[in-house]
Amino acid sequence: MELFEKDNGTETVVVSDIWAGKLDCTRCGSLCDHYLYRKTDRAYLLYVMIGDQTKERYIVCDKCGFSRKINKEEFDRLKKRQNERLLSGAFPVYVMKRDFSPKQVKLPRKLLAFFMACVFISACICWCIDLTMNNSIDAALFGCWAILTVIPAIPLYVTAKELITALRYRKLYRSALSK
Ligand SMILES: [Zn+2]
Repeated sequence: MELFEKDNGTETVVVSDIWAGKLDCTRCGSLCDHYLYRKTDRAYLLYVMIGDQTKERYIVCDKCGFSRKINKEEFDRLKKRQNERLLSGAFPVYVMKRDFSPKQVKLPRKLLAFFMACVFISACICWCIDLTMNNSIDAALFGCWAILTVIPAIPLYVTAKELITALRYRKLYRSALSK
């Protein structure tokens, strides 16, 4: 779930994080699923997110929506514990189905983004080779090489990292479903 409050180059989003387990809700009184939530400020430059900062953290009852604000230490501790449980295959199948399906982790979109980053860096390298063929090697050319390979390396790194995470989730998802 994402709630947007768009502003000049920044937005505040409330995003659900990892499943926090089955806990007793202090409002509805039932033992039910809880999720960790983050309220985060994101900064954009030309539609590309250049940074984010989490302002508030919550633990939310999935049944009645009751949210309790928690501090960073508690959030980090819960998230670390749940990540370890996730990686060891201890999450229930219904949670895996709901939160870690290829669609839910946006695998197709991440594949496409990585592909685009590959095309971009290939085009830049081809351009550099073309420049080299048509010019004598000098300082300006070296500068072009440096800029045209460093700039596209950033989206390549970011998209590769996201894709690796999504593929890891797919593996966990498949092994959970095959149990
Ligand atoms: Zn509740």
